[in-house]
Amino acid sequence: MDERYDFKKIEERWQRTWQEQKTFKVTEDLSQQKYYCLEMFPYPSGKIHMGHVRNYAIGDVVSRYKRMRGFNVLHPMGWDSFGLPAENAAIKNGVHPSMWTLDNIAFMRDKQLKRLGLSYDWDREVTTCLENYYRWNQWLFIKMYERGLAYKKLSYVNWCPSCSTVLANEQVEDGLCWRCSSVVTHKELDQWFFKITAYAEELLSYCDKLTGWPERVLTMQRNWIGKSVGVEVDFIVEGSDVKLAIFTTRQDTLFGVTFMSIAPEHPMLESLIKGKKQTDDVRAFVQRVMREDKAARTDEKQEKEGVFTGAYAVNPLNNEKVPVWVGNFVLMEYGTGAIMSVPAHDQRDFEFAKKYGLPIRVVIQDPQKSLTAETMKQAYIEDGVMANSGQFDGLPNGAAKEEIADHVEKNKLGMRTVNWRLRDWGISRQRYWGTPIPIIYCDACGAVPVPEKDLPVRLPMDVELTGKGQSPLAESKSFRETTCTKCGGKARRETDTMDTFVDSSWYFLRFCSPREDESPFDKKAAAYWMSVDQYIGGIEHAVLHLLYARFFTKVIRDLGLFDGDEPFLNLLTQGMVIKDGAKMSKSKGNVVDPDFILTKYGADTARLFSLFAAPPERDLDWSDQGVDGAYRFLHRVWTLVYKHSAAVKDVRHAGPEARGDKLYRKIHITIKKVTEDIEREFHFNTAIAALMEMVNEMYDYTSGGVMNYDKQLPVLRSAFDALILLIAPFAPHFAEEIWDALGNEAGIANALWPQYDPEAIVASEITVVVQVNGRVRSKITLPAGTSDKDIEAAALADPKVKEFTNNKHPKKVIVVQGKLVNMVV
Ligand SMILES: [Zn+2]
Ligand SMILES: [Zn+2]
Repeated sequence: MDERYDFKKIEERWQRTWQEQKTFKVTEDLSQQKYYCLEMFPYPSGKIHMGHVRNYAIGDVVSRYKRMRGFNVLHPMGWDSFGLPAENAAIKNGVHPSMWTLDNIAFMRDKQLKRLGLSYDWDREVTTCLENYYRWNQWLFIKMYERGLAYKKLSYVNWCPSCSTVLANEQVEDGLCWRCSSVVTHKELDQWFFKITAYAEELLSYCDKLTGWPERVLTMQRNWIGKSVGVEVDFIVEGSDVKLAIFTTRQDTLFGVTFMSIAPEHPMLESLIKGKKQTDDVRAFVQRVMREDKAARTDEKQEKEGVFTGAYAVNPLNNEKVPVWVGNFVLMEYGTGAIMSVPAHDQRDFEFAKKYGLPIRVVIQDPQKSLTAETMKQAYIEDGVMANSGQFDGLPNGAAKEEIADHVEKNKLGMRTVNWRLRDWGISRQRYWGTPIPIIYCDACGAVPVPEKDLPVRLPMDVELTGKGQSPLAESKSFRETTCTKCGGKARRETDTMDTFVDSSWYFLRFCSPREDESPFDKKAAAYWMSVDQYIGGIEHAVLHLLYARFFTKVIRDLGLFDGDEPFLNLLTQGMVIKDGAKMSKSKGNVVDPDFILTKYGADTARLFSLFAAPPERDLDWSDQGVDGAYRFLHRVWTLVYKHSAAVKDVRHAGPEARGDKLYRKIHITIKKVTEDIEREFHFNTAIAALMEMVNEMYDYTSGGVMNYDKQLPVLRSAFDALILLIAPFAPHFAEEIWDALGNEAGIANALWPQYDPEAIVASEITVVVQVNGRVRSKITLPAGTSDKDIEAAALADPKVKEFTNNKHPKKVIVVQGKLVNMVV
């Protein structure tokens, strides 16, 4: 063992050893219990950041710990490698997206991830931009198409009129084109959708079964799916046969409708304003709103704006006519694209009515004090008693909800309806660097799915990326032109590619059998490894990625390929890495480059720091002192072991005979604490703190000079072994080196986790507090298990106590729970 802790030499040695021995390669072994640990795979941007280091360090501790607990651990890594940055790099620098991406992958894998000493089975690496992966995206698309789960419909896209190209949402910056800063408009295109809404009910109800997920994420999933139960009622536009259907969960307020609002995108809008003097104003308003971001339009803080269409619609419940407005806060995607507005009982409607001078009518009375429209300062949204609602007056509004729903259905004014916020998943992208959608269009046969035997539909390499004009694939004649597989006639290929979220929706299944070439994955392998036992990633994926992955898993189950219902049993969403109070980012100039830390301190320090600085789910505040502290801790352990390694090397381990020993007790307390902290929500920070305490105690233990060969050295030997085993998941290279130096045969990666001796933990001594006349006068130390009678005797004999009792026997002595003695003199 070297005197100096040379992390560079050590880390290189063990990384080489693990690679040569394929230490982390796993196969399906039915005799062993499996554990599947997965970190969200990265986009190969070319460089990992501290957030990655943290994410992978967490996953690596879990994986290594579970290995040491005897599980057969699958811990794979891959690349979510289709996507826009590669295409942008191609437009800017002329390098082909494929080359850019594969170069980045090689660099990140070999020069960055492998330097962190992560326990991946690299033989299972999955790269989504390679055809052995994306052909299965195409295969799954066709299966979904055959079942009606993939379909085409008209939908809006962002359009740059100057570049005459479709823009992805990320390419629109403050409503302007990222390339030329033209104002982005909208264009309707025929696009492909996955029918995720067919699984809405199951996706929602299974949220209750995901007990290993953070409640915060489940709430976000539930809200995104957004089930609401209410009624749909038709309002007829006056002087026409146009029906504006509205959906409401508040049918108890139907008599309080004083106006309606429709979405700027509403297909009936043009017919409403035709020939009216408002036409120009409405059109100008619509054009302006359509440029706004949809999420911003419905944001609570956003200013609500509208314009009167000049049309009126009739409320079927009381036959009153109400004005129809266009509102920026109404979206076509949600509900029917038209809403009823009840300003007395909805705050948004209230503010809108006040702003534009629209009437307000109270239909639910506050039982405490009578409300009048003129004096209301805000909407009344509490329960109350029905008013101004015809035959329903006087009913509690809760009961009126049911009666009005009955009334609506009986009189055929509408019906009870369940409404979902969840929309079908639009997967068409007018981009190059993605999976080609495997459809052929023939004038005679229509849309024809590419036959399985012709897959993959390869991305052509001869495409010039300019960022202008139509879809890049449409520019490639060799790609576009083909023959119909049904009739042999002239046909053209679909030139859209798939949303890259498709790639990440089933990659966890591919990891089970990454070289399978007859199907997306081997059914038996998936049956063994799935579901993922622990999934770890950022909270930014709490909605879309996780929802799409759950949807794909259910579709794949229904295709008969997999027996489970859910992909991820347990989910950990780790916090961000922040520095100087903000998330690390280039624009803030507060980025710490992992390469710098790896070179200056080594991987084990980088890992230890990121695990010690905060519990995984919290934000990690970067501190240079913290990194230094982690490095010094490893040094301190190294120095201690170096000093005593020769002395303990051939010494036996301590056993139960050492139970009275102070350090022996600390060993077992520490094993218990570290084990429980890891098991209990991965509280690595407190586990590492316990290891630091143990090291302090070991320094104390060895400070007295020469040690007793029969009694103390075996305890020290046991302490070293336990300490190194407990450190191994956190600082694996460091632990391997010391483990080896102490003469242990097999590598520590294959060693078993230590067990604690419960009897060693029981305290060997107790401290008794002695009070005289209610004041603490002394503390005495006694062997554990001393009887109350003996405690009393020892207290009376204590010299300090005698001082305060003047050597007289007190009037009264009480021993409380073996911890406290009360005397009254
Ligand atoms: Zn442009
Ligand atoms: Zn045909």
